[in-house]
Amino acid sequence: MRTICPPERLLLGPGPSNVHPRIYQALSSHIVGHMDPYFFEIMDETKDLLKRTFRTENELTLAISGTGMAGMEAVLCNIVEEGDEVVVCVNGFFGPRMTDIVRRLGARAVEVKEPWGKAVSLEALRDALSKCTRPKAVAVVNAETSTGVFQPLPEISRAAHERGAILVADTVTSLGGCELEVERMDIDIAYSGSQKCLNCPPGLSPITVNERAVELIRNRKTRVRSWYFDLLEILKYWSQARVYHHTAPISMVYALREALAIVEEEGLENRWIRHRRNREALEAGIEAMGLKMLAEERDKRLPTLTAVKVPKGIADTSLRKTLLDQFGIEIGGGLGELKGEILRIGTMGLNSSRRNVLLVLDALETALRKEGYGVRKGAGLQAAVASYDT
Ligand SMILES: *Cc1c(COP(=O)(O)O)cnc(C)c1O
Repeated sequence: MRTICPPERLLLGPGPSNVHPRIYQALSSHIVGHMDPYFFEIMDETKDLLKRTFRTENELTLAISGTGMAGMEAVLCNIVEEGDEVVVCVNGFFGPRMTDIVRRLGARAVEVKEPWGKAVSLEALRDALSKCTRPKAVAVVNAETSTGVFQPLPEISRAAHERGAILVADTVTSLGGCELEVERMDIDIAYSGSQKCLNCPPGLSPITVNERAVELIRNRKTRVRSWYFDLLEILKYWSQARVYHHTAPISMVYALREALAIVEEEGLENRWIRHRRNREALEAGIEAMGLKMLAEERDKRLPTLTAVKVPKGIADTSLRKTLLDQFGIEIGGGLGELKGEILRIGTMGLNSSRRNVLLVLDALETALRKEGYGVRKGAGLQAAVASYDT
């Protein structure tokens, strides 16, 4: 058999992002047992760093063994019981998945719908909440990776709390890239993923749950339907009780610890600024090539993912093929109803850099010309450089 020797790609899609060299090193470290005192120290460090990265003191802060979707499923199945009412914000690909999970749990999902490419409005949310008798939770995606739309959370949180509901936020593409402060924004539950702005391989889902939400879980009338995702049981392993629950994916926890240390060393605010700055330059370059963003409202565009409309008559697949074959760059296409309509360029974690912005703009220009799209040579690069200079 051949040994595995994958091509080196620059991963500028919707995730996974490239893995930091320090994280590869952590991944190749010796395995110890999942009950080894050394591993407990690493778990504690990881938990501590996760709290700082989420900006919270929540005791129930840990990493679920599984990808971002496992985090989504875990938090919803701990909160939602049969017959509950949950308001789900739907303005992209990931909202409907929350609806699906809520309904599978035997609860009523009330959807707040907005067109893909727009943020959910407060009026629409209030309207949906008014249709509920006792809404238990509001679920919302903070960074819609399918549309490049940023959803501000503080106002959503206030509206949810006014009706006695908790706020569950999908922060898969925001943690470590977008401004996110769980405590200050009064987010009751947030879950994320390891392979987006944290530059780990996929496999862990950081979550944090505040006291208000823990109370809801404690006061459930029925047991959590999922054995594996019963958060209070998992917490017994992630707290000083150290009760075996399942064998933690040791190497992935090493990786996450290292990833969070890298975030800490750079500083969360510096990281937010860096993501914003590179996105602005990317945006300037793309607009200078005559292309349009999917998200019309400038202040609702994600710093971690840029969704660009594909010009009429051009196949997104041809553009992406040129980027991959000639430049080794992966970018994403549209999901669901946006299939063929947009390109998705991720600038997540270490991938948010001046070098990568200039590279992808150059590659995109080449790909567009190849398809016969008229663009002045170097227009994108020039505008991006100008953006960095201001
Ligand atoms: C990637 C992503 C997910 C799913 O995460 P997986 O790691 O693929 O399971 C969920 N929500 C958002 C917003 C995402 O970007």
